[in-house]
Amino acid sequence: MPLPLRSALETLQRIPDLVLQSDAPLAAHTRFGIGGPARILADSPSAVAFTAALKAVRDNGWTHVVIGCGTNLIVSDAGFDGIVLRYRGAAIEANDLHLRVGAGALLQDVVDFTVHYGLEGIQSMTGIPGNIGAAVYGNAGAYGQSMDQRVSSVEYTDGDARGTLTAAECQFEYRESIFKRRKDWIILTVHLDLDPGEVTALYSTAFEIRNIRDTKYPPTMKCAGSIFKNCLFEALPPAVQAQIPAKIVKGGKVPSAWFLEQVGAKGIRKGDIQVAAYHANLIYNDGHGTASDLVAIISDLQARVRSRFDFDLETEVQFIGLEQPTRFSAQQV
Ligand SMILES: Cc1cc2nc3c(=O)[nH]c(=O)nc-3n(C[C@H](O)[C@H](O)[C@H](O)COP(=O)(O)OP(=O)(O)OC[C@H]3O[C@@H](n4cnc5c(N)ncnc54)[C@H](O)[C@@H]3O)c2cc1C
Repeated sequence: MPLPLRSALETLQRIPDLVLQSDAPLAAHTRFGIGGPARILADSPSAVAFTAALKAVRDNGWTHVVIGCGTNLIVSDAGFDGIVLRYRGAAIEANDLHLRVGAGALLQDVVDFTVHYGLEGIQSMTGIPGNIGAAVYGNAGAYGQSMDQRVSSVEYTDGDARGTLTAAECQFEYRESIFKRRKDWIILTVHLDLDPGEVTALYSTAFEIRNIRDTKYPPTMKCAGSIFKNCLFEALPPAVQAQIPAKIVKGGKVPSAWFLEQVGAKGIRKGDIQVAAYHANLIYNDGHGTASDLVAIISDLQARVRSRFDFDLETEVQFIGLEQPTRFSAQQV
């Protein structure tokens, strides 16, 4: 059922501290710079207002989705015939080695905070774009550190009630958490436990990693980082394992880029959508790319890997107004 725009706007306008925009072009809110309009975009830095909006949307059965900074999203060219909600509460509060962070805080701001105050544990995640709420959702990580190692608990809402989950209850796995299965649970606050660290050493690690990352992913590049998750070696079929050079297996994972290189992915282009010539798992919008070309390239790459290796690469990126490509087998994590 199409969204009853006027009635939805009237309902949401009654909620204080909620900023509304109708027909908001989502291309302006995604790092890919792709995506048609959302019927309504509703933002708030207030947990009370955000929760009230979520409740109103759910009680009325209006189609909706919650996003963060849009750095891991592919939005349909036709846009989203529903309400896009964003929680922007971004306070960072420290109590000794414990941080309490609003889900709308940039992960980079949290990393910078910890480096500045000599708190060890997330400095290697410097340069991962997006909010800390989304980082928990996708259990983001890089250079040996990931959210699951430092999250002590997560506060969430479903619009009616609030709950708290321990780290174990978040069911973290590689790029997975319970929030990917319970999309009705929206993260409001993240609690982190860190270790004491030495400011100069933390700064130096973060600085080095940031330089490497900025070369691989230039800050202006319109992309989503890795398109596909890496693969757990143990979960791959024995016939595939036998083909993988031992030196490319790191921490029990095989980079999806290796499979993509074997099927000639580097440098492929469709319209303005480009697979990087230097990294087969990096796809970017090289101008005025479309979601339809992006999805076509992703499907093409999946089909090539399936045909050559008989298993499916799983996308890391999330889809709005489009179907998430199906996971055809259980060979990946
Ligand atoms: C250049 C580049 C490099 C990257 N490098 C890495 C990397 O090294 N490691 C890595 O792990 N990722 C990486 N990513 C991916 C991306 O940065 C992460 O997935 C990030 O956590 C997404 O944050 P976001 O705020 O942009 O979320 P969005 O892209 O807006 O949303 C992602 C998902 O999170 C959900 N979500 C957002 N907020 C909430 C909330 N409060 N509660 C519940 N669900 C929520 C959304 O519904 C959506 O499904 C990279 C991306 C880019 C562009």
